[in-house]
Amino acid sequence: MRCCAIVVCLALGIGMQPAWSHPLKSVFVTFPGDVTKDMSETELADSYLKKFGYIETVHRSGFQSLLSKTNALKRMQRQMGLEETGELDKATVDTMKQPRCGVPDVANYQTFEGDIKWDHKNITYRTLNYSPDMESSLIDDAFARAFKVWSDVTPLTFTRLFEGTADIMISFGKRDHGDPYPFDGMDNLLAHAYPPGEGVQGDAHFDDDEYWTLGNGVVVKTLYGNANGALCHFPFVFEGKSYTTCTTDGRTDNLPWCATTADYSKDQTYGFCPSEYLYTFGGNANGAKCVFPFVFMGKNYDSCTTEGRSDGYRWCATTENFDNDKAYGFCPSRESAVIGGNSEGEPCHFPFEFEGNQYDSCTTVGRKDGKLWCATTDSYDADQKWGFCPDKGYSLFLVAAHEFGHALGLEHSSIRDALMFPMYTYVEEFSLHRDDIEGIQYLYGPKTGPDPTPPQPNPFPDPDKTEPTNEPEPTTTTTTRPVPPTNEICKFTKFDTITVIEGDLHFFKDGFYWKMSSKNELSGPFAVSERWPALPTVIDSAFEDKSKKLYFFSGTRFWVYNGESVLGPRNIEKLGLPSTVEKVEGAMQKGKDKVFLFSGENFWRLDVKAQQIDKGFPKYTDMVFGGVPSDAHDVFQYKGNTYFCRDSFYWRMNSRKQVDRVGYVKYDLLNCSDSPTYYY
Ligand SMILES: [Zn+2]
Ligand SMILES: [Zn+2]
Repeated sequence: MRCCAIVVCLALGIGMQPAWSHPLKSVFVTFPGDVTKDMSETELADSYLKKFGYIETVHRSGFQSLLSKTNALKRMQRQMGLEETGELDKATVDTMKQPRCGVPDVANYQTFEGDIKWDHKNITYRTLNYSPDMESSLIDDAFARAFKVWSDVTPLTFTRLFEGTADIMISFGKRDHGDPYPFDGMDNLLAHAYPPGEGVQGDAHFDDDEYWTLGNGVVVKTLYGNANGALCHFPFVFEGKSYTTCTTDGRTDNLPWCATTADYSKDQTYGFCPSEYLYTFGGNANGAKCVFPFVFMGKNYDSCTTEGRSDGYRWCATTENFDNDKAYGFCPSRESAVIGGNSEGEPCHFPFEFEGNQYDSCTTVGRKDGKLWCATTDSYDADQKWGFCPDKGYSLFLVAAHEFGHALGLEHSSIRDALMFPMYTYVEEFSLHRDDIEGIQYLYGPKTGPDPTPPQPNPFPDPDKTEPTNEPEPTTTTTTRPVPPTNEICKFTKFDTITVIEGDLHFFKDGFYWKMSSKNELSGPFAVSERWPALPTVIDSAFEDKSKKLYFFSGTRFWVYNGESVLGPRNIEKLGLPSTVEKVEGAMQKGKDKVFLFSGENFWRLDVKAQQIDKGFPKYTDMVFGGVPSDAHDVFQYKGNTYFCRDSFYWRMNSRKQVDRVGYVKYDLLNCSDSPTYYY
């Protein structure tokens, strides 16, 4: 039977030969423990769009324009500064493969629930554990510098706690690390953080399957020796030989060391390199060094191990017998240790054998992704033990500064040079972008100090100083005008615009407006032309700024009323809106000097003082205001909530940015009933 089966195979093989164009033997190898990232591009895109909130938006936006994947792609492309093709083109696929922050790009307060800022200025933080990649004082320093980035431009202060609950709890973890958002192995997701609040809110998590450095390759801080903790100098020369890693040469105690200048024989400065023979971190042994061999569950161990742990961290006992003494600590990684693979923390073994060939250095052979790897025993073929070779790594300082931005309440920016851009880029000389500063100062205000910024001249002429428009004679009675009765308002399902003026809701329709007081008393209609004679019949949107000036938009024109004096009409292009915008459909005050202008699926942020649209806009409405229709019109803030209207419905968003109610404008805001009762 066996013989026959082989014959059949051969016969088939020969028969199919002309159709085969693949080489008989694949040059690529499936590495054990490797993260399978062999998704098709479509699968990659689907998972990316879902993970970062783009598809979620589609689902949460409800019945209106069922956003297709095209729309989700467009949103992603705008966020990443790519051409908005709506197609899965090469640039888009490439971007999806880049390392980035794990926080969704689309504001998603159903997953990341919470207040958007801290209610106090003296923020505390606590580092719960350390990465084995860097000596802990380097990690402490990176975090301290990352907090300073934000305290330099705000009144916030950051105090480190060593016990108890801090506002911002910082931890390293791999894969499933105790929250619903697992990390993904090396590269891609680097870290994530939660917006301010209690519990997990405000916390920052770093993926410890990454190689954490200061962004520019191996950093080894020495201990003991005579160099006072200086960094190793690679390469250094010792007895005529050049070293690019720490060495045990010249010593009998197995302790790796390095020189801290280029030439040991000349300067004689050196220190020891992190190793388990010197110390451990974390655990319960107070930093004691490993003791080898040690007994764990009746078995002897000659080196650090990940046995008995589900988090993948290497540990050792600090006495001969863990089973008896239970004393342990985590092993610091050697600077030459591999990253990922199935031997994390072990050094490369040179030479090693792979598919019958000998390798004296890291190689890309056998891998589709072109990454350098090595075996950690003398034969990959025999042991299949391997990992990636240390590369430049990711700057813990830069990633932490970004994550702490989230922990303070910032969202992702679509400006590539901003710290809050979702993708990782290493920069040597770091400084905050104006967009980052504006974002954080919007939440917490500028740094208070002896150097107040001088007042800026207002480039826009003050309407106070312009001639008031000729008012028509005030009419003392309205009986001469054909005015619809107050309850006529219930006939309408849709309004030209709804806005809040002097605390009262104003409903505009066809040249008239009604007022709903905060006590729910309806009055009107009033003629628009009587109070604001310069305005046209149809108002698309309006808002009252903090200085009580009223802005009205109609088509491509806008007017500014200050009391009775009016400025305009001016063209909305003067504000920096593109000529493709045919009308401004909604306007919402945001902070002291900013206002959001909505049109179609987009919104812009207007700096009222500078009379200019801010950089980084337009943004898609449903990306920032998750759960509201993408083409909302009539946006206004009323009694602490934000309302987005579309047709006869409104979506109410609370101060925590959650849509907590969807209802009818007519019944809920105007108290209409289907068979209106007439009150006179
Ligand atoms: Zn982020
Ligand atoms: Zn996490």
